[in-house]
Amino acid sequence: MSLASLTKVVRWNVHCIDGGHTTRIYVLAGDTYGRLLGFTPLSEWAVFDAWIDPVFEEVTGIVHRQLRREAGASDCIVSVLGAACDPAPSGYTYDFTGMIWCPVCGSSNTQYGPDDPLQFSMMSVPQVTHSAWMALSDEQRHMLINEALKTKKCTIPDHD
Ligand SMILES: [Zn+2]
Repeated sequence: MSLASLTKVVRWNVHCIDGGHTTRIYVLAGDTYGRLLGFTPLSEWAVFDAWIDPVFEEVTGIVHRQLRREAGASDCIVSVLGAACDPAPSGYTYDFTGMIWCPVCGSSNTQYGPDDPLQFSMMSVPQVTHSAWMALSDEQRHMLINEALKTKKCTIPDHD
């Protein structure tokens, strides 16, 4: 059902400021433009490949229409992308904004970064699926993205 592809990753150390936990995660290595890595608070991960996944264009079009602009919408697009993806096995929605949670306690108050020197590996990273999205009508998709935009405080009046 869900595809996974062998991908070059680089190890990051995560320091949990609230809980003092020290853990490691892996993120995509190299030229990752257009390949978005999503995480959940339980450190589940999945890749959204915007180059080959038509849902990216679809969500982009909906966001542009909802916000009535095309410029400066990329942060909003990224923040609602998870709404168009099937949830992780835990039930959490993937977050593609670059948020890193502590895998031990779930706190989002973390500091993180790569090893020096960088530690690379090859890992099988799952790709997002869109079963629930595909089952929706166009109107339902618009409503879903509209709700997600409101939740993320991406609304029409803006300050940029
Ligand atoms: Zn923690």
